[in-house]
Formats: sequence, structure tokens, C-alpha cells
Amino acid sequence: MRETAPVKTALLYEGKAKRVYACADEETCIVSYTDAATAYNGLKKGFIPGKGAVVNRVTNALMRYLSSEGIPTHYIRELSDTETLVRRVRMLPLEVIVRNYTSGSLAHRLGLEEGLPLTTPVLEFNYKSDALDDPLVNTCHILSFGWASEEQVQRMKALSLRVNTLLTGYLDRLGIRLVDFKLEYGVTGGGELLLADEISPDTCRFWDIKTGEKLDKDRFRRDMGGVTEAYQEVMRRFCAQAAC
Ligand code: 5GP
Repeated sequence: MRETAPVKTALLYEGKAKRVYACADEETCIVSYTDAATAYNGLKKGFIPGKGAVVNRVTNALMRYLSSEGIPTHYIRELSDTETLVRRVRMLPLEVIVRNYTSGSLAHRLGLEEGLPLTTPVLEFNYKSDALDDPLVNTCHILSFGWASEEQVQRMKALSLRVNTLLTGYLDRLGIRLVDFKLEYGVTGGGELLLADEISPDTCRFWDIKTGEKLDKDRFRRDMGGVTEAYQEVMRRFCAQAAC
């Protein structure tokens, strides 16, 4: 029998490309993805037709896979092409970045060319602040400013590196190189740390393994064209292996 759809009771949060709604059940909420696209912390704005559905469905396929491999995630169930029921958490104000190849801000910061393989994955934390442009921070900053506990930092590091191993293998089977990605974590009312937010072409660098073609938001950030086509290509590969 089909489960009844939960009812939205209030808008909890409106982000740049998603809204989060409260439900009657206070332990859950609904994430609703839009086609809005932003980059450089909101400075560049646009619209990618169909993006909300790609982000929702790719994120959910990956969250289901990670959950099946023992990663604690907020995912409960997909409600529609663009909406998903998740466990309600208090988000930590941190981004965890994991990198397998040089690109983006790492290449820029260290004056390196893009696409160099890293001998060991590089894990970084950013403090989430649009006004400060999500600055790079370390464990001392996180503990000193109380953004997370020592135990939570260690757990985020271990989980993120495990997620990297799992996603690298999963995406390899789709002909996608996982260059780098961003994760966010939240804490339930009971104190459990869960992987939350999204994992999608908006938050990862996906390069075609054979051609090196970019299949992610860098096409939008860098005005490369073919943005919608790249997102649809990622979706096509996920659907081809019946993951979405
Ligand atoms: P970088 O630090 O090189 O700009 O980004 C590293 C990785 O994290 C990339 O895959 C990028 O998409 C993701 N990332 C970092 N910060 C953000 C952010 O604020 N929003 C989104 N959507 N992705 C981010």
C-alpha cells in the first residue's frame, strides 16, 4: 500500500536552491529542490531547467547507497521528482571537503594546475558563511568557536573519508571521476550525527573518466555552456543502472 504523503506545516529554511519544510512529525522534514542556480556564494545567479529533479534524484540514489553501506544519513524516502522526506537535524555550520585531484580553490590557493592526482585524499573544513565566503578553517578553529565537538570532528573526518572511498567506486562504475566534493552534517534531537544536505553535480566535481569533460556546476560557475546537458547526462548514467 502507498504511504500517505506527509503534510508541510511551515517553511523552516529557504536556501539558494532549496527549501526545507517542517512536518507534523517533528522528527522529520521535507527538502524541496528548485532549478535556481547560484555560484560564488550568491554573487552569480541563474536557472538550470530540470536541475531540482537531478539534484534530488542523484542525491537520493547516493544517500540510499551510502546508508546501505552503514553511513548514517538523514534520508528517509523520496516523495516526488523534487522533494524528499528526511530526518530533522540541527545543521553544523561546517562544510567538509574531500579532494582526490587538484581543482578549484585548492589549485588556486597553492598555485597548482587542475587535475593532478593527490597521493592521499585531502580533507578540509570550511566555516559556512556567505558574508565571509566560507573560509577554510581547521580543528582548532572549530573547537575554539564551538562549531562542533572533538568527537564530532573525528567522526566527520572518518565518515567523510569512508564516503569518499564508497562514492569513488560507485561513480567509477558510471564512468565518472570523483575529483572532489562537499558534505554537510547535522545532529538529531537525540545527539546522533547524520550525513545531511545533498550530494550532487552542484556539490561535487564530476569529470568524465574517458574524456575529462566536466559534468558538474563548474560549467555554470565558469560560463562553459552545456550546463543542462551535463546535469542530464549525470542523471542518465544514474538511471541507466537503475539507481534513480
Ligand atoms: P572548492 O573549494 O574547490 O571551491 O570546492 C570543492 C568542492 O566542494 C567542489 O566540488 C564544490 O562543488 C564543493 N563546494 C564547496 N563549497 C561549496 C558551496 O558553498 N556550495 C556548493 N554547492 N558546493 C561547494
